[in-house]
Amino acid sequence: MIEMDYAATLLSKIPGASSWRDWGLRRLIDTLESYLPGEQIELVIKAYEFSAAAHQGQMRRTGEPYISHPVAVAQTLADMHMDAQAIAAAILHDVVEDTGTPVARLEEVFDSEIAALVDGVSKLDQMQFHSRAEAQAESFRKMMLAMIEDIRVILVKLADRLHNMETLGAMPRDKRVRIARETLEIYAPIANRLGINHLKVGLEDLGFRYLYPNRYAVLERALKRSKGSQRQYIKKISDKIRKAMEAEGIDGEVFGREKHLYSIYKKMNEKKRPLADIVDVFGCRIIVTDAINCYRMLGVVHSLYKPMPGRFKDYVAIPRINGYQSLHTTLFGPNGMPLEVQIRTRDMDRVAESGVAAHWQYKAEDKTSATPQRRAREWLAHLVEIQESGSSEEFLESVKVDLFPDKIYVFTPKGDIMPLPKGATTVDFAYAVHTDVGNRCVAAKIDRNLVPLRTPLQNSQTVEIITARGAKPNPHWVTFVTTAKARSAIRQYMKNMRSSESVDLGKRLLDRSLKDLDSSLRKVGKVRMKEALKELGLNSDSELFEQLGLGMRLAPLTARFLLGVKDESETKVSAASLVIAGTEGMVVSYAKCCYPIPGDEIMGYLSSGRGVVIHRNSCGNLINFRKQPEKWLTVTWEGEINRDFSSQIHVDTESKTGVLAEVAATIADSDSNIEQVSVLDRHEDCTVLNFVLQVKNRKHLAEILRNIRKMPNVMRVSRVCA
Ligand code: MN
Repeated sequence: MIEMDYAATLLSKIPGASSWRDWGLRRLIDTLESYLPGEQIELVIKAYEFSAAAHQGQMRRTGEPYISHPVAVAQTLADMHMDAQAIAAAILHDVVEDTGTPVARLEEVFDSEIAALVDGVSKLDQMQFHSRAEAQAESFRKMMLAMIEDIRVILVKLADRLHNMETLGAMPRDKRVRIARETLEIYAPIANRLGINHLKVGLEDLGFRYLYPNRYAVLERALKRSKGSQRQYIKKISDKIRKAMEAEGIDGEVFGREKHLYSIYKKMNEKKRPLADIVDVFGCRIIVTDAINCYRMLGVVHSLYKPMPGRFKDYVAIPRINGYQSLHTTLFGPNGMPLEVQIRTRDMDRVAESGVAAHWQYKAEDKTSATPQRRAREWLAHLVEIQESGSSEEFLESVKVDLFPDKIYVFTPKGDIMPLPKGATTVDFAYAVHTDVGNRCVAAKIDRNLVPLRTPLQNSQTVEIITARGAKPNPHWVTFVTTAKARSAIRQYMKNMRSSESVDLGKRLLDRSLKDLDSSLRKVGKVRMKEALKELGLNSDSELFEQLGLGMRLAPLTARFLLGVKDESETKVSAASLVIAGTEGMVVSYAKCCYPIPGDEIMGYLSSGRGVVIHRNSCGNLINFRKQPEKWLTVTWEGEINRDFSSQIHVDTESKTGVLAEVAATIADSDSNIEQVSVLDRHEDCTVLNFVLQVKNRKHLAEILRNIRKMPNVMRVSRVCA
């Protein structure tokens, strides 16, 4: 194989590279050379050239050129042996957000995969975390994970945050505190959840350092003091273990282990114990070649030092839920000092350090083109597999929900996070806030722009609902809401409304029928009503009225029953008519066969369960009148009605282009809306157009017909008779 310095040869290809100061590129390439083939390193160089040109002239607060930052982020990922796409995306991660380079340009120059990774990181950057509540932080973490389709996006973001934390000293104090808190509350827990230990440790220690600078300083000083003696002590023990290991013929390495500051701080806080108790626990890690040797090594250390009873844990046979595998034991060291020992293989160590990232580590033999989602699923499947022993599934469940969410997360105007199912609309959001907000909502804003109520929501949008007093839910909403809460609230509201409307109508129908028999509700009286309700098996008079209003019970029969009139042979149509005002709501509807409008002679048909349906007297359906006269009511229009009714007309025109548009314009000019239009018949010289329009009354309709008739290409116009 060719033995040469890739970094040097590749760098020599970049024009003017020799005059550049090296902002970490050489070291990055050195790292990449250890595991990536040359053509993939060239991709990384290309990303570097592109990014350096885009960030040209920009500086970090530390005073260094901006390009030093993305290279440092890439270095972190290279240390984790991530694939070339992830490294390239890391180098390009700020060009969209900070240099205005369009994502499409990245797609042109690189590929859609790298462009999507950079786009994902940029979107995460735009999210703002406000509240400090713990539940809120949890939701925010979930929202972040829900937003990303490729886990590498969050890996780039975590590495980005790590470098920003490393250079946080250059920031003003108030910004330092805010960013440090966000790191501890949002990013470190995500790194932990994804099992990426060294990122978690780095983020925690830096977050701790900037959030509590004094506590950090005290702890750091105390640790330094004990460290000198600690190092010597650990070295002595490590040497002894190494010797015993060689004597047994076991291959492996022994490392001293230092606890990280934040974990010591957390332990002190949780256990309320002094620093000395916690730092004076020493630790070492033994790495061997295979699982069998883990157990052999355990025997070796147990014969060197006495084990502390009850402290041995076998996570090799029974791994932890996040995939962690290791043997843990605590020994009585020299002078009786406790010594914590971890024994594991190199593979186990890799999983313990990189978690989900282990699945994107470059492997030369890996030729599968698995999608990012599939790789994340494989990681989960792997966790499930090693978890067969069946301990708590809580962690697994939470990771699964985070990585493959069926939820979206949106903000209220106050910055609270609201989880909703995928596909939820602004109406679902309104009902999730409160049933009253849903019932009274009239409009919605997403990110401050007015949108139709049926608009589906996307992750991290801010949603504002505009309500109006007296507003009512629209029955149509049921067709697009996705949450059970919204659906049942709308249905419940409709049911209540319908029921109160039918109670009103039923009462009027009964009173009218009683009048035909020279009586009235008042004359019947409460005592007789109570008695009658009992006989009918009903609980209240409103229940009776509702049944009457819905047409499930007939008013003339009920009137006779109330008055004790036995003669049921003749049921005639009542002389007194029911007055229709057009405001009865859902219990009064207008037949689509004859489209009655105010001014028409009309009849009402009591349709079981649907209330009264109004027909024109001229309607062909009145034939049924003879068959069931008891179901027909005399109805009349109220004098002043101010609403629109549907009406149907036919227009015969000459077959010329543009005629339909002309007729439609005339209708609009006559203050009417067209609900439906169709072409019924088209001949060589004549076309019949069918319109359903909205009119106020007969007078309005007559005016519209007159206006159409005057048109030059119109031959005939008429209202449709059913
Ligand atoms: Mn950045």
